Amino acid sequence: MNQPVGVPFLDLKAQYEPLKEQVQIAFNEILNNTSYIMGREVTMFEADFAKFCHTKYAVGVANGTDALVLALRALGIGVNDEVITAANTFIATCEAISLVGAIPVLVDCDSNYNLDVNQLASVITDKTKAIIPVHLYGRPANLAAVCAFAKQHQLFVIEDASQAHGATFKGQPVGGFGDIGCFSFYPGKNLGAYGDAGGIVTNNEHLYATICKLRNHGSIKKYHHDLIGYNSRLDTLQAAVLQIKLGHLKTWNASRQSHAALYQKLLCDVSGIILPPQDDDTYNSVHHLFVIRVLNQQRDALQEHLGKQGIGTGIHYPIPVHLSLAYRELGFNKGTFSNTENQAHEILSLPMFAELTQEQIHTVTDAIKLFFVGAK
Ligand SMILES: *Cc1c(COP(=O)(O)O)cnc(C)c1O
Repeated sequence: MNQPVGVPFLDLKAQYEPLKEQVQIAFNEILNNTSYIMGREVTMFEADFAKFCHTKYAVGVANGTDALVLALRALGIGVNDEVITAANTFIATCEAISLVGAIPVLVDCDSNYNLDVNQLASVITDKTKAIIPVHLYGRPANLAAVCAFAKQHQLFVIEDASQAHGATFKGQPVGGFGDIGCFSFYPGKNLGAYGDAGGIVTNNEHLYATICKLRNHGSIKKYHHDLIGYNSRLDTLQAAVLQIKLGHLKTWNASRQSHAALYQKLLCDVSGIILPPQDDDTYNSVHHLFVIRVLNQQRDALQEHLGKQGIGTGIHYPIPVHLSLAYRELGFNKGTFSNTENQAHEILSLPMFAELTQEQIHTVTDAIKLFFVGAK
């Protein structure tokens, strides 16, 4: 009975165990004082998160998708407006644009999975109002180029930092480069709640005030509704978890970075795969995902091989937004965004979380090497 040891793709329990007591104390307090909605933990977390992002303001909201919706609304973006984003993002980026009535305008990504800034000029129109760069897999988009282009054309920038809490571009944390930065605290993200949660950061006082209203039925004073808003508050219980976890985020991100470095070292000689871009002085990734590309149509076979050893993997994302059923109305054909589409057949996300051990990483890389030796 030689069961393979296996390595999970993500192990949320490993993160919960050491925090258990602290979380339960915080939960008990909230349960006892029944401050479920907009309790003081929300304000406390917002202050800490703004500090973490080096921004003036942070607002807790219900999830990352809502963060994007509220950001677009706060900037006055709606019907007949166009918003540019990357074709290789998670669908929520695009959905948010559609949900406010605007039109998502997609551009292809480059070989580093970032929105290809060279394509911005070819898609801009009179209707373009904003760009949403996505810091996919935890690596910042080219914020210098995006912000310069936006400034030149008087466009807003909303960063989708849902996968990049704490990543830095030229030493500055992402989220504060654009007009508004949006975060998801979905459980599997680098900073994750115990349910759905999201956050918005900005340096603009007026936008901050509007977002505070939008998330709570257009109101900051009970029953005084200034705007048609949403019910998109951050739960007090989630804020308490997030505040506890935020204190560990730098350490956890550093662990992910050392795991990524070990993967790079152990896999650098394997032919048949392309490793993710490495950090430099400009780009500092927090490795939400460690995504390799598997060449020669071997991706599915490798994934199956790893699965048989109990090694969890993922594909982020198998169907590009423009080819999904939901967006058939945009009318894109296969072949429109060749990098995004080719990568969708090659990308494979390996196990990545702060608590991953060196031994587990060796288990993964040994299994990958064995696959390619066997394939020869
Ligand atoms: C997770 C994610 C979102 C959406 O966040 P939710 O909290 O699940 O609504 C948006 N954009 C990207 C890039 C994400 O990874």
